[in-house]
Amino acid sequence: MSATVQSMTANAAEAERELTDGFNLIIDALKLNGLNTIYGVPGIPITDFGRMAQAAGIRVLSFRHEQNAGYAASIAGFLTKKPGVCLTVSAPGFLNGLTALAHATTNCFPMILISGSSEREIVDLQQGDYEEMDQLAIAKPLCKAAFRVLHAQDIGIGLARAIRAAVSGRPGGVYLDLPAKLFGQVMDAEAGKKSLVNVIDAAPAQIPAPESIKRALDVLKSAKKPLIILGKGAAYAQADDAIRQLVEKSGIPFLPMSMAKGLLPDTHPLCAGAARSTVLKDSDVVMLIGARLNWLLSHGKGKSWGNAPKKFIQIDIEPKEMDSNVEIVAPVVGDIGSCVSALLTGMGSNWATPSSDWTGAVAKKREENVAKMAPRLMNNNSPMDYHGALGVLRTIIKERPDAILVNEGANTLDLARGIIDMYQPRKRIDVGTWGIMGIGMGYSIAAAIETGKPVLAIEGDSAFGFSGMEVETICRYKLPVCIVIFNNDGIYRGTDVNKAGSDPAPTVFVKGARYDRMMEAFGGVGVSATSPDELKRAVNAAMDSGKPTLINAVLDPAAGSESGRIGNLNPQSALKKK
Ligand code: ADP
Ligand code: MG
Repeated sequence: MSATVQSMTANAAEAERELTDGFNLIIDALKLNGLNTIYGVPGIPITDFGRMAQAAGIRVLSFRHEQNAGYAASIAGFLTKKPGVCLTVSAPGFLNGLTALAHATTNCFPMILISGSSEREIVDLQQGDYEEMDQLAIAKPLCKAAFRVLHAQDIGIGLARAIRAAVSGRPGGVYLDLPAKLFGQVMDAEAGKKSLVNVIDAAPAQIPAPESIKRALDVLKSAKKPLIILGKGAAYAQADDAIRQLVEKSGIPFLPMSMAKGLLPDTHPLCAGAARSTVLKDSDVVMLIGARLNWLLSHGKGKSWGNAPKKFIQIDIEPKEMDSNVEIVAPVVGDIGSCVSALLTGMGSNWATPSSDWTGAVAKKREENVAKMAPRLMNNNSPMDYHGALGVLRTIIKERPDAILVNEGANTLDLARGIIDMYQPRKRIDVGTWGIMGIGMGYSIAAAIETGKPVLAIEGDSAFGFSGMEVETICRYKLPVCIVIFNNDGIYRGTDVNKAGSDPAPTVFVKGARYDRMMEAFGGVGVSATSPDELKRAVNAAMDSGKPTLINAVLDPAAGSESGRIGNLNPQSALKKK
C-alpha cells in the first residue's frame, strides 16, 4: 500500500469513528446527574450551548440579567437540594452572576455558576482578549469551591467535583470556569461517555456522635424554659416529619426563622413566632436547629436575649459554626435529618414536657400579640397602609397554603414576615442572611419552575426595581406569578424632601408610578389596586387564572419607617443638621 492510500484509509476510519465535543459532554454530564434546568443569559461563548442544551431536553431559562438568573439558581438549590445551575458569559456576565454565587454561599444554598471565559494563554499574559478576566481567581474567595476545566475529557470529573462541593457538608456556591475553546474540543464519543461521572450519594448522611446526642438531651432535660429555634437549614434538610415529631414529643415552644416558617404551621399551639421577644428573653435553654447565631439573632447576646443565664445546644452540619458567637454547651454536628432522628430515639417514650407555667406563658403572650394586631389587619383604608394590605394577603395565603411566597423590601419584608402565617415547609423565600434586595423576580421564576406551584411575590417598590425587568421573563415563560408591589413612592417612604435644591431627595421615586403598566407592555395582566378590597380581588383572580400579573398596590407615601425594623443599624452623624 502506498503512503497515500494508507492515509486515506486512516481518514475514512477516523470519519466513521463517532465523535463528541465539549458542548455535548457538558450537556450529557448535566443530564446524567439530573441537572435538567439551566438559568442564564446567552452570549459569547455560550449561546450555542444554550441552544444545544435546549434541543437535548434541558430546560433553559433565559433571563434579562445574570444576577437574577443566579438568584433563581440559588433558590432552586434551596428548594430541591440539588445544585441550581446558572450559566453566564465571560467577564461582565460572570461578575453579574457572582453576586448570586456569593449569596448562595452565604445562605448555604447549593448552586453552580458556570461561566464561559477567555483563553488562558491570552488572559495569563494579559494580552487583552475579548472580555478578558481571570475569573477563577476572582470567584475563589466568594464561593465554597472553584474549578476550571481545560480538556474535554475532564468535563465529567469537573462537574462531579462541582456537584459534590455544592451539596455535601454545608451547602454553598461553586464556580465552574469553562474557557471558550473547551466547548469545541473534539474527542472519541465512546471515550467521552466513559469519562462522565454519575455522582453517587453526593451529600452523604452525616451521623452525629452518640455522646453529642446524649449531651444535648441532658442539657435539654435540665431546662425549665426551653426553646427550639428552627432556621432555614432545617427547612433545607427536608426532614419535615422528624422535626415536627421532635417539637411535638418534646413539647418545647419553637421559633421559626423567616424561611423556616411553615416547617410547622405558624398557627401550631407550640409556635412562639408571635411571642419572639418573650421567648428570647426568658428561655433558659435554646436548641438551634439549622440556624446561626448571626445578626438575625443578635449574635445570641445583648438586650434582646435578656439577663437570665442561657445555655445553647446547636445542631448544624458545619462543625466550625459552633461557638462562633457564644459558647455552645452541646454541639451536635451532623445532618439535621440524622441528628433529629437520633434525638427522638434518645428521648425514649417517657420524655417529660416542659411545665405548663412556661408553655402557658408563651401561649398567653402569643395570643395577646395576635389579638392586638387583628383589628389593624382588617382596615379598608385607601390609600392603603401596610396592615390593611397585608391583612388580605394573609387570608389569601391561609386559603392557598401551597402557594410560594416571595418577599423582599424593608417595611414590606418586616411586616409581611410577622403578619403572614405560613402553613407548609419551604413556602416562604426571602432576602435571607444578607437581607439583600433584588432576589424577587429570580426567586419567583425559579419557584414557579421548580415547584409548579403558584407564586405570590410581595415586593417593596424599591426592592422590585432591582429585578423588575424580569417581568418580561415571567410573561415570556407564562409563569403563574402574581407580583404585588407595595408602592409608597420611595425607599422606606415617599415623603422625603430635598431642602438644598430641586433634585428629588435620595429616597424618593416618581410619585404615583404605575408599575402595573410594565406588565401590560409584555402581555401580562396589570392592575392598580387602591384599597384592600381591590387588592384581594386582583390577587385572587391572578391566583385562579395562573396568568402573569402585576398589582400596583397604592400605599400611603407616609407609610413605612426608615430601614423597616433594622433602622438601628444606620450610623448617625453627630454633626447632622436638623
Ligand atoms: P436562618 O437564617 O434561617 O437562621 P442560617 O442560614 O443562619 O438560617 O443557618 C442555616 C444553618 O443550617 C447553617 O449553619 C448551615 O450550616 C446549616 N445547614 C444547612 N443544611 C443543613 C443540613 N442538611 N443539616 C444540618 N445543618 C444544615
Ligand atoms: Mg417603598
